Amino acid sequence: MAKTCAFKAEIRQMLDLVIHSLYSKKEIFLRELISNASDAIDRAKYLSLTDKTIAPEAPVWGIRLTADAEAHTLTVEDNGLGMSAEEMEEALGTIAKSGSKAFAEALKEGKETNIPELIGKFGVGFYAAFMVADSVTVDSLRRGEGQKPVRWMSAGDGEYTMDDGSRTQPGTAITLHLRKDMERFAEGWELRDLVRRYSDFIAYPICLTEIGKKKDGESEGGKDKEEEKPLNTMTALWKRPKNEVKPEEYEAFYRQTLHGLGEPMRTLHIATEGTLEYRALLFIPKSAGMELMMPGNKHGLSLYVRNVFIGDEIEELVPAWMRFIKGVVDSSDLPLNVSREMLQDDAIIRKIRADLTNRVLKALAEMAKEKPEDYDAFTANLGDFVKEGFHSDWENREKLTELLRFRNLKDGKFTSLRAYKDAMAEGQKAIYMLTADTLQSAQQSPCLEQLKAKGYDVLFLISPVDQFIASELYEYDKTPIVFADKGDLKLEGEDAKKELEAAEKELKPLTEAFAKHLEKTVKEVRLSTRLTDSPCCLVQDPTALNPAMRRMMEAMGQEVPEEKRILELNPSHTLIKSLLAETDEAKRDDAIDLLYGQACLAEGTLPPDPAHFNRLVAGLMR
Ligand code: ADP
Ligand code: MG
Repeated sequence: MAKTCAFKAEIRQMLDLVIHSLYSKKEIFLRELISNASDAIDRAKYLSLTDKTIAPEAPVWGIRLTADAEAHTLTVEDNGLGMSAEEMEEALGTIAKSGSKAFAEALKEGKETNIPELIGKFGVGFYAAFMVADSVTVDSLRRGEGQKPVRWMSAGDGEYTMDDGSRTQPGTAITLHLRKDMERFAEGWELRDLVRRYSDFIAYPICLTEIGKKKDGESEGGKDKEEEKPLNTMTALWKRPKNEVKPEEYEAFYRQTLHGLGEPMRTLHIATEGTLEYRALLFIPKSAGMELMMPGNKHGLSLYVRNVFIGDEIEELVPAWMRFIKGVVDSSDLPLNVSREMLQDDAIIRKIRADLTNRVLKALAEMAKEKPEDYDAFTANLGDFVKEGFHSDWENREKLTELLRFRNLKDGKFTSLRAYKDAMAEGQKAIYMLTADTLQSAQQSPCLEQLKAKGYDVLFLISPVDQFIASELYEYDKTPIVFADKGDLKLEGEDAKKELEAAEKELKPLTEAFAKHLEKTVKEVRLSTRLTDSPCCLVQDPTALNPAMRRMMEAMGQEVPEEKRILELNPSHTLIKSLLAETDEAKRDDAIDLLYGQACLAEGTLPPDPAHFNRLVAGLMR
């Protein structure tokens, strides 16, 4: 017997908003209905384990879409648990569900712009059907003994009707009478596309029947009815046990689904259990795709919740510096169909991100340890991301420090701080570094002469990212980090100190002459402990901006405050010694200009007056 009931006020309010929402992605209704169907099968399967009356016929579990393009109807049918009259009334008509209640409360706060997000958030997905349908019929037969079919109908206008149904097979069929401008949802091409996009990894086959298609002569053959092919592939790679997935399957997924290039460098297949349950399939690529180089480009992982696709490029799943990682995450702890907005401060997402980050860091550390040649290749192509991480990811700074690599002076190879420290010479008190534009100019810097003479290695910071992290490198494992062109090199012992003091006295007239002549260009002139072969070099205060960084910022059009350098003279160099004896002031000043110009060239900058410098060199040659 039919009975007509009014929806509870909150549901009416919600329906009104759903129907009139201007949200463009109406298509999400389909993944909601499919996901409900899949849930119903899950429940039936689960109950049938203990209750023999639930599924005595041992059915082939599945979901069927029936599209009638002429009648403009779409039916989503499953052979899952079904609903009794009471269950239906409770599930589709009252506010008993906690989700609806919370939804109604959110509505009272007046956030009507986010209806579809709210639908997902509060698990009231069924009502999304009213975004595309002007009436919805639910026909259901509950599994188990002594059940009768029931039918629910509503036009979303504040009332619903319940009546006896006519279904003979257990399960549920939900029929949508599509709105005028929503008729495409009864077209096969649209449904195929939507299933592949949103529901591909639903674990049960989703098949499609197109009514009236054959009449139009549009379908081919028509004989292959028995071997009907589901629209979804059903095979979520990450759901399968690790040891059953072949390397080529991972690769195919990496290339086809994630649009990766070539083979991945490493594959991480993650299945956690316990307090945080999720599965993930992550790939560390061999090189960065072009898209990573473009600022503002989207990145991130794909997210599934209980087999339902939520979205891709979910940036919240990995820290920004890890944007080179490709992959998918599947969580059963998240509410189905969470909105992107919610992800930002979701506690579960935060936990997953922390766990994923740890695992990637661990994989990189393992690679560095076990396959250093692989890690070198990784460093060459993607090492800048690790450095960006060192700069930005404070929580993981310690681990990231171990993953940093710099080319060294000794053999030009990538070197870790740990390896450098372990190989330090006896008596060496600091880790030496130098920033430069290129490996070549670093190798030839006069600032390294004493260090070379002592047999100390030096690490070079030559990529643009290096310039940003240089100021954050001041210590490693209790050993100070010293930049070869900055401040005190911590080289000399007591004897050397005395020697320097004596030389300072002796050369005082010359350093003063330098200081006077270069008054406008340099901040200070002093004697050096870093030189052996060169007569002089330019250095700077420990706090000053690196010359390479300065040039980079200037190239980017940024204004960089003027900062004078320090000129250091080599007290044991013959040129310096003989200049002390020069009495002709004009000649001495020319020599000072020449020496200063050379110091500039040695670090890759031009002499302050290149024409004047050229004339001086030409004069020398004559
Ligand atoms: P949720 O799926 O988050 O519970 P929905 O609004 O999507 O919220 O669905 C409401 C309820 O309706 C479900 O919890 C379920 O009890 C019932 N339901 C919906 N679709 C089906 C179906 N195909 N078979 C059985 N029950 C269903
Ligand atoms: Mg649902």
